[in-house]
Amino acid sequence: MEKVVVIGGGLVGMSAAYRLARHGVQVVLVDQADSGKATAAGAGILSPGNRFPSSDPILPLLKEAHAYYPEMIASLTEDGEYHTGYERVGALHVATTDEEAALMPKLMEQVQQRCAAGFHHIGDAKIVAPDAARSFFPALSPVLAAIHIPEAARVNAQLLCNALERAVRRRGASLLHGRADLVVDGEKVTAVTVGGQTIGADAVIVAAGAWSSTLAKQLGVTVPVHPQRGQIAHLVVPNTETGGWSIIMGFTHYILTFPPDQVVVGATREDNIGYDYRVTVGGMREIINEGLRMAVGLASATVQEVRIGFRPQSPDAEPFIGSVPGIKNVYFATGHGGYGLQAGPYSGAIIADLVLEKPISIDLSPFAVGRFNHAC
Ligand SMILES: Cc1cc2nc3c(=O)[nH]c(=O)nc-3n(C[C@H](O)[C@H](O)[C@H](O)COP(=O)(O)OP(=O)(O)OC[C@H]3O[C@@H](n4cnc5c(N)ncnc54)[C@H](O)[C@@H]3O)c2cc1C
Repeated sequence: MEKVVVIGGGLVGMSAAYRLARHGVQVVLVDQADSGKATAAGAGILSPGNRFPSSDPILPLLKEAHAYYPEMIASLTEDGEYHTGYERVGALHVATTDEEAALMPKLMEQVQQRCAAGFHHIGDAKIVAPDAARSFFPALSPVLAAIHIPEAARVNAQLLCNALERAVRRRGASLLHGRADLVVDGEKVTAVTVGGQTIGADAVIVAAGAWSSTLAKQLGVTVPVHPQRGQIAHLVVPNTETGGWSIIMGFTHYILTFPPDQVVVGATREDNIGYDYRVTVGGMREIINEGLRMAVGLASATVQEVRIGFRPQSPDAEPFIGSVPGIKNVYFATGHGGYGLQAGPYSGAIIADLVLEKPISIDLSPFAVGRFNHAC
């Protein structure tokens, strides 16, 4: 494979470009930097996937994705990139109502099953006495029950993406700013156009997040990825070192921290609003109410910024990873919804390996790109 064009400079596309560049492939990455790029808004929680039932086909992928993270961070370190915000700080699942407390035993069972199945980012999960919970997160409200996951990690997705971008450039890749369109010739895409430029391609990877369906239409396939808006608040707690606090996982919302004094509270999950890039009053009320419900001690924090991102959501909540039926040299890696920071680096690596014709260790059939084509 001589030249690969990657469309999309979010975490998925950048990770694919990195893998290819490390294998000596000539890479051109094209990104149009849309407002609402999910990677720029993503919280950064790398947790063991407790939201997914045990039968969900995403679990083998998530398991490998969690194992891949330290490997990728080590590769970046080799490449001179040290600043990704990746750190194992642990997570505390909390129940603040009787209804939530009733769900905790089931949650503990699921966490233990995942741990026994070899999931990284769990460790020796333990039930924490309610009055001890605040030692993990000093701003915590009184809780009824808590479970501690010691190996859960966080990452600063923007820093990670920037680190990948620098590493990719140093390995010889070109990065272009602008909208990519596909030049289709029969069963192949021969080039990608960006502005007035035509870039020849032996293969194309589409990792265009919530905008991927437009590129699929250019190929005559249906890849129904829709934007799900997430609003997320970044706070500062003055004169307080928050970086060592655990991630707080509620049943619907979450809180995490970054050094030196940051706290991130998220997030809304809003469907059917298109690419409406706005902070709304209702969105803010939801995040602040839920944030304070879990951590009343944040009431005096400063609101620094509210970010908006469009999660690339698929109808069955599974991603699209693989080649395009009927087209020989185009591959999609998209549709990771609310778990793309966990799964994105590994999905990027898988799609690069498919292009390189290397073996893949997990079953990709549930993520087939053509699975909604009958709906045309
Ligand atoms: C508020 C919020 C919180 C989240 N928290 C977490 C979390 O804690 N943990 C987790 O695992 N996941 C989380 N996610 C999900 C995660 O952020 C996404 O799944 C992931 O970032 C998707 O990455 P991506 O590369 O597919 O898409 P994106 O990051 O959206 O990147 C796609 C890029 O493609 C570009 N593009 C599109 N079309 C074209 C074109 N034709 N030509 C050129 N460029 C194009 C866009 O401009 C964009 O830059 C969160 C998301 C949100 C919104």
